[in-house]
Amino acid sequence: MKLDLDFDKKREIPVGDSGRVRFRFRDIAVEPGKAVSLKKDFDPDFTGGYDDKEGALEKVAANVERLSAMQEILYAQDNYALLIIFQAMDAAGKDGAIRHVMSGINPQGCQVTSFKAPSAEDLDYGYLWRASKAVPGRGMIGIFNRSYYEDVLVVRVHPELLEKQKLPPSAHKADIFQKRFKEINNFEKYLRQNGTIVLKFFLNVSKNEQKKRFLARIEEPEKNWKFSPADYAERKYWDSYQTAFEDMLENTSTEWAPWFVIPADNKWFARLAVSEVISAAFERLDLRMPEVSKARKNELMQIRRQLLDEEDE
Ligand code: AMP
Ligand code: MG
Repeated sequence: MKLDLDFDKKREIPVGDSGRVRFRFRDIAVEPGKAVSLKKDFDPDFTGGYDDKEGALEKVAANVERLSAMQEILYAQDNYALLIIFQAMDAAGKDGAIRHVMSGINPQGCQVTSFKAPSAEDLDYGYLWRASKAVPGRGMIGIFNRSYYEDVLVVRVHPELLEKQKLPPSAHKADIFQKRFKEINNFEKYLRQNGTIVLKFFLNVSKNEQKKRFLARIEEPEKNWKFSPADYAERKYWDSYQTAFEDMLENTSTEWAPWFVIPADNKWFARLAVSEVISAAFERLDLRMPEVSKARKNELMQIRRQLLDEEDE
């Protein structure tokens, strides 16, 4: 199936000065409707055989500059919004990826929303309510650090959380997550049809790499704040999470809101891949500065004359 934004899946992404081919979109995009095996199909350590970290980071910086220029046009044109969703296991590098990739963007054109456990008020509504309130307006880039996808992930791994959602008995059926996949697909289609581009990144970290990063967070005092014993408790559910992620990817990667599985064992590569996908998505939008009408041009010229005629004080 063709992705809505027409990502050329064979497109090769050259990295570094040599410009040698390193990876293709088809290495990371989840084909709509296709069964997903994280183990077989996606290697967390994948870097396309590339090991020039410096070269990759230069490319990220160049992408960030392009993004910043495109965001300005997005804002002026005021037709589209871009919603970027990040999901991952703990310590996969969501925060770092967000910080790096968005570092050059005008803060007025960008907002990040982190989704934690729902509040009492949140639980009085359906699970899409708090996300609907946070979607970016036209001209804006919105980033979700976690999202409504938690409602088919953590809530699936821990069924007691579903109990807290105060759903009517009729909703408590075995197919509740299949229903949620459909609701999410419909929600994202509605967003897309009304001008919001939705891009979704699953940062795919390996269990061994998570262990290394947890150990670093414990052993290096300046990283202690990043570690919570709750993260270690969640690690015990690793396999259940992997299954939930696979089901999510399989059922919610659509032509209008595709998932990208980002190899995340190497932070520099993850940042490169994310920035490439966002740049490519921007390039596929018909971004144009709004046209200035003749009447408006005349008006501007008239004001200009009046300003020039003013006596300096
Ligand atoms: P962190 O991103 O490390 O600050 O952690 C946020 C926590 O909130 C994670 O443990 C998530 O699993 C949890 N969380 C986010 N959304 C939900 C949700 N809808 N239901 C339950 N827990 C959630
Ligand atoms: Mg955490």
